[in-house]
Amino acid sequence: MPYPKLKMLIAGEWTDGHSGKNEAVICPADGSEIGRVPHANKQDLNDALESSLKGFNTWRLTTPHNRQAILEKTARLLEERFEDISQNLTREMGKPIVESKTELQVAIDLLRWYSEEGKRIYGRIIPSRFPGMQHEARKVPVGPTLAFVAWNFPATNVMRKVAGALAAGCSITIKPSEETPATAIAIGKAFMDAGLPAGVLNIVFGVPSEVSEHLLNSPIPRKLSFTGSVPVGVHLQQLAAKNLIRCTMELGGHSPVLIFKDADIQKAAQFCAAGKFRNAGQVCISPTRFFVEESVHEEFVNAFKKHVDSINIGDGLDPSVNMGPLVAERRINIIDDFVTDAVSKGAELIVGGKRAQSPGSFYQPTLIRNVPETARIMTEEPFGPIAPTSTFKTLDEVIDRSNSLPFGLAAYAFTQSPKTARLLKTEIESGMLAINSLHIHSVETPFGGLKHSGYGYEGGIEGVEAFLATKYSSEIFE
Ligand code: NAD
Repeated sequence: MPYPKLKMLIAGEWTDGHSGKNEAVICPADGSEIGRVPHANKQDLNDALESSLKGFNTWRLTTPHNRQAILEKTARLLEERFEDISQNLTREMGKPIVESKTELQVAIDLLRWYSEEGKRIYGRIIPSRFPGMQHEARKVPVGPTLAFVAWNFPATNVMRKVAGALAAGCSITIKPSEETPATAIAIGKAFMDAGLPAGVLNIVFGVPSEVSEHLLNSPIPRKLSFTGSVPVGVHLQQLAAKNLIRCTMELGGHSPVLIFKDADIQKAAQFCAAGKFRNAGQVCISPTRFFVEESVHEEFVNAFKKHVDSINIGDGLDPSVNMGPLVAERRINIIDDFVTDAVSKGAELIVGGKRAQSPGSFYQPTLIRNVPETARIMTEEPFGPIAPTSTFKTLDEVIDRSNSLPFGLAAYAFTQSPKTARLLKTEIESGMLAINSLHIHSVETPFGGLKHSGYGYEGGIEGVEAFLATKYSSEIFE
């Protein structure tokens, strides 16, 4: 399956837009140009906004039953196109093909779950203190929505926004990452082929800061949902404030992993290594700081290293590969600097720590131990394949250290003690916590962060709620 021709979706039409500008899409496995993605200019963005208003007025009046039928048809089309979409996802993003397939399946599951949930948007009748009066609170779609998303999950990052918005009855204009456009376009094609009315979904690309500034300056959007880094999230929230646009912010993380001496250390190391190097560590909920109780540190590091040694790096299209390249060449130096900095401050490099091969933006899976708190990797999100370990002595100490950063997205703990587990559930400052596994989200569960990791949720009933507003009315008849 060749990499497709890349177009934007504006007002129901696939278009190159009016700017005449575009940019290269690079395959991270070999550095070659595989396509060119068009850029929108102001006219294109205005067309998208106007069509999204029209689309909203059509879609909000479409019954939930009929919306669900279109979303279900989209899910079936994505299943029919599953192999081609997965291959192109790996081509543009680099992750192993098995991970692309898992991701696409989760995107389809999300779509199905949201599409059914859209039928269950209920209001409530509130008993009145006045005779004969009735109070009603009803849920309505919040309005035309904007979304900007990162490149690390080209299918699910897009689907979490689009399926949630459409299930709630909103229209949505999304700017996926210019680095991974084909997956978003394939999703858009499936929606259009399933009969989604024009303007209900628009897909645009361009210079991110220019696109967001223009779109957020318009009075049309009523909601922004963003997935990306903390600084960009803060910037977009400031732009959204001007028009009082509601926001959902899915931002960066720096997940602590607490490994207690009463845990099954071999299993913990196996789960942690698999989780750390999934998508080459380019995951917002990636386990990032490994705090290991002193007496089991040696055993944990040895077991972890064994798993690192078995990782096969290469082009993600090769089915025997279990770790692909970083998304782009620009990430190599960023990752390398984290390792150099930690080692210069006294950490011990156990395995990895270098660029793996070239061409392609490959970096070795890396394990460093006894990493001091002053190393940058202990406070800044690395977003790459590096696992730093450090030891702890007491429960209070490890809780304090886990909560010491401004991030609060995910946290993990391995312990056989229900008492410790219960305490962590109340004391760890993160939106999500997994005990004795790295399984931290499902389509039915709320995904979101605390503190600088953002606010608002995707998935679960909260994911639909994010695109709803509440309207109150009262009535009284003589
Ligand atoms: P980034 O914030 O620089 O970019 C993320 C995406 O936002 C890019 O693909 C880009 O297209 C877009 N973008 C950048 N500047 C923009 C602007 N001014 N206006 C509109 N869009 C803009 O982040 P990155 O380093 O490329 O991506 C990784 C970050 O995303 C990490 O911090 C990671 O933790 C976070 N992330 C969070 C979640 C979550 O659900 N919490 C999920 C995936 C990634």
